[in-house]
Amino acid sequence: MSKRVIIDEGYCQKMITSLALLDEFWEHDTGSGHPENKNRLTSIKGKLEKTGYFRNLLRPEIIPASDEQISAIHDPDYIKEFRQIVQNGEGFFDMDTPYSSKSFLAATLAAGSGISISDSIIRGDAKNGMAIVRPPGHHAEKSHAMGFCLFNNIAITAKYLQNRGFKKILILDWDVHHGNGTEHSFYDDDSVYFISIHQYPFYPGTGHSDDRGDGKGKGFNLNLPMPRGSDDADYLNLFDKFILPETDKFHPDFILISAGFDAHERDPLGGMDLSTHAFEKFTVIMKKKAEELCQGRIISFLEGGYDLHALADSVEAHLAVLSG
Ligand SMILES: [Zn+2]
Repeated sequence: MSKRVIIDEGYCQKMITSLALLDEFWEHDTGSGHPENKNRLTSIKGKLEKTGYFRNLLRPEIIPASDEQISAIHDPDYIKEFRQIVQNGEGFFDMDTPYSSKSFLAATLAAGSGISISDSIIRGDAKNGMAIVRPPGHHAEKSHAMGFCLFNNIAITAKYLQNRGFKKILILDWDVHHGNGTEHSFYDDDSVYFISIHQYPFYPGTGHSDDRGDGKGKGFNLNLPMPRGSDDADYLNLFDKFILPETDKFHPDFILISAGFDAHERDPLGGMDLSTHAFEKFTVIMKKKAEELCQGRIISFLEGGYDLHALADSVEAHLAVLSG
């Protein structure tokens, strides 16, 4: 009997998922009228706390990303300006993108979440991970905040992983909006393959299928723009036809996912028709692929998702698959 318990524990350890979800993410105050507000995390946390696995996830210590780590993607002047501007209290970077006095701390912790989760996977404490963070990141550009995003969390993590010896990083972005900031971070880079499925035409206006990369990055950027109303079958068709063959060809050392859930049929901003089940399927597909190609190494990052119930259900469906 005791032997069986030991075997079960060993199995569980191998499947463990590293999670970041910090109190400081609630303190990035965008106001209750803003779609990207703290209630998103309250809803997600409430849903996860009802599961049997949530309390068993690994919760590594999350350290704020350093200026050096952030400046692998962002202009040092932008980091400096952002740090200073929040000292005066709240304001707006652009019409869509507010900040509050705690936003700089939250943003450095959001970026640091990907790094700390990476470390837990590198140490062998976890197999994969999820950064349930605010502010989100994929619209953030080199020298400015944009579209609710302050630092590009996923791009900063990709650079960190490369410094730690993982040469080839695949970034899959299934948020309903094109990940312009991530695309621009690696547009001329053949070591980070960025693949995005998004509603098109739509905010932010980028993400045309002709944009395949530049210089030696040519062929390492793949936009899969889809019309409003695309559903589970349309997306799964893209996995079969493009995403999986391209992932096989690239053979990444690590897979990162910009996991936005605003392509859900109930999302108030997006116009797509995905069910909650779709996010579960996408995760099963990518987890299997990661096990085949890179020992299961996946980190996903929360991006969008604005219907509180659809968001919580979809995150839970995604995390349940990741954590096995
Ligand atoms: Zn989005």
